[in-house]
Amino acid sequence: MKYDYLVVGTGLFGSVFSYEAAKRGKRVKVIDKRNHIAGNIYTEEIEGIQVHKYGAHIFHTNNREIWDYVNQFAEFNRYTNSPVANYKGEIYNLPFNMNTFNKLWGVVTPQEAKEKIEEQRKAAHIGKPTNLEEQAISLVGTDIYKKLVKGYTEKQWGRKATDLPAFIIKRLPVRFTYDNNYFNDKYQGIPIGGYTQIVEKMLSSELIDVELEADFFNKKEEYLESFPKIIYTGMIDQFFDYQFGTLEYRSLEFETSLLDEENYQGNAVVNYTDAETPYTRIIEHKHFEFGTQPKTVITKEYPKTWEKGDEPYYPMNDEKNNRIFKQYRELADKFPNIIFGGRLGMYKYYDMHQVIGAALTAVKQEFKN
Ligand code: FAD
Repeated sequence: MKYDYLVVGTGLFGSVFSYEAAKRGKRVKVIDKRNHIAGNIYTEEIEGIQVHKYGAHIFHTNNREIWDYVNQFAEFNRYTNSPVANYKGEIYNLPFNMNTFNKLWGVVTPQEAKEKIEEQRKAAHIGKPTNLEEQAISLVGTDIYKKLVKGYTEKQWGRKATDLPAFIIKRLPVRFTYDNNYFNDKYQGIPIGGYTQIVEKMLSSELIDVELEADFFNKKEEYLESFPKIIYTGMIDQFFDYQFGTLEYRSLEFETSLLDEENYQGNAVVNYTDAETPYTRIIEHKHFEFGTQPKTVITKEYPKTWEKGDEPYYPMNDEKNNRIFKQYRELADKFPNIIFGGRLGMYKYYDMHQVIGAALTAVKQEFKN
């Protein structure tokens, strides 16, 4: 079989590219080292519940074209992300909004809330923030910082807030309306029946062959020789044998349990914002689809330092890593037959709508239409 493309990775980037290439009559071979398709948006059914195996995924975008594009492959429900924070048993609405301020301080009007924040910011006497703690306090005051930011952020990064650089938090969204919708985007939802079907449909063309449990690096030389063009969505530093150094990530461990009860926490996402609870959040998957099954599935998320062999989830886009990435990117430009894409190929945190947008841009460049 003669292929036009080898696509490494069945995540959204690789799958959108494969779908569009097949639509244009191209033959595509797609490989993935995992034993399933769909990369990190993979969902698996357990007891009738779609379980987000690699963390909660909520689709949201302001871009009508991308919303229409993804809706070709699944019907979306009207899920609105409204996470709650659990601080030592006290429950607060997120993102920080009038409901949060009312619970914290008993304030009722936006003016009262603004005054309270301003009073705490002033009392902290912070000049130019030198670390994350000072930055957060200068943005939202001491109470919100202590109860809702500090513990969560320290767990996420595995470091004290006073040891983290201020630039990590450029702004903290504060909303002076009684609105618990986490995202500001026009379009938002969860595909009814899970995300995997989206990728299944994208890869369903007769012109596309999928091979799972196939690691690119087991046959790198052979692939480079036999395919005229390669779309590579794995780690860019691994492709170049880590010659400029290893790019760093934060990783996560997921602990999933099936519980013999109908409703464990009453919300899809609950963040644990104290420092002592070892996980950052608990996801109760059925609530993404308003499920009424007799059982429930929950997942605890434990952040951890990434080591080679772990799943790389969040790129650490600090100065040191960005500098290393730039060297890889420049080297990649010398390989016109290889398109580096997706969150690992571009070493960039992409939301789903952004990765679809990036893949469609790559398609336009490749096919000039
Ligand atoms: P991936 O989905 O990672 O796909 C890459 C694929 O390449 C993988 O299947 C991998 O196995 C394969 N691969 C890698 N190396 C090799 C190799 N050597 N050989 C063969 N195959 C290989 N986005 C949102 O819009 N909303 C959310 O709520 C949201 N929540 C998220 C929560 C978490 C915890 C994380 C980590 C991400 C979240 N995202 C969310 C982002 C979303 O997951 C990404 O935008 C999207 O999955 C990126 O797609 P991708 O194709 O770039 O990468």
